[in-house]
Amino acid sequence: MSDRPHGYPRYKLDGCRCYTCGWAVAQYNDAREHAIRRGQWQPYVDAEPVRQHIRNLQECGLGLRNIAAAAGVDRKRLQAVLNGRPDRGTPPQVQVRPALAAAVLAVEPTLDNFGAATLINAVGTTRRLQALVAAGWPQHRLAVRLRMTDTSFGATIHRDRVIARTARAVLCLYGELWRTDPRQLGVDNQAYSRARNHAAARRWAPVSAWDDDTIDDPAAFPEWTGMCGKPEGAHIHQRIGVPVCQPCLEARRGHYRQRYAEKKALATVEVQG
Ligand SMILES: [Zn+2]
Ligand SMILES: [Zn+2]
Repeated sequence: MSDRPHGYPRYKLDGCRCYTCGWAVAQYNDAREHAIRRGQWQPYVDAEPVRQHIRNLQECGLGLRNIAAAAGVDRKRLQAVLNGRPDRGTPPQVQVRPALAAAVLAVEPTLDNFGAATLINAVGTTRRLQALVAAGWPQHRLAVRLRMTDTSFGATIHRDRVIARTARAVLCLYGELWRTDPRQLGVDNQAYSRARNHAAARRWAPVSAWDDDTIDDPAAFPEWTGMCGKPEGAHIHQRIGVPVCQPCLEARRGHYRQRYAEKKALATVEVQG
């Protein structure tokens, strides 16, 4: 899916949650917090963690200009940390002011400040588009709103990765439409039903199955029933006619396993008694 090596950028851009990526990010966050804390009682701090953070952000597709803007510092100061000042013949800075270090180290690679053409994980983008179709929005109408052809929209709704510009446009559109009724915004009944059936046939999760914390998380499952991952969930799936989701399947298995163990324990007690 991605040719980026496992580590910080892959965790942030591709949503990889493997052990290597998780460890890299945890280690890194520790070092970063440590550097920020140390800066609170010293006039100067080591520039190396700052330099490393700038490089990581650059690998995530953030330009120096974006990083400087997000940190609220002058771009020239970041250049001095990275490359020194060739015009004055000075090497990369060895130390920096703690305030500069803290400001730069606080910059996160988020959708807001990725470069427009950076390829990122599409999970939040596809889930949002699919949820809008499940709400009755015809794909053609969404494509027009996104200034896409029907063909490229059709590909985007299935993609593993999209560029940041597309992800931002979809985020914006979803924010506008997720609470609307398409029929009150000019979509006729037939097109509305067709969109909903299309989504249902593909098991695309509705808006109500997601919240802000889960929709971009590759490890999250849609919450179909309000009880997903609990033993009751599977019944509700059957009632509403949605195939049982993975967390509900596991919860049901766990439940039966436990009941079986309890019965066996009881039988053993009876035999002994
Ligand atoms: Zn990984
Ligand atoms: Zn479920």
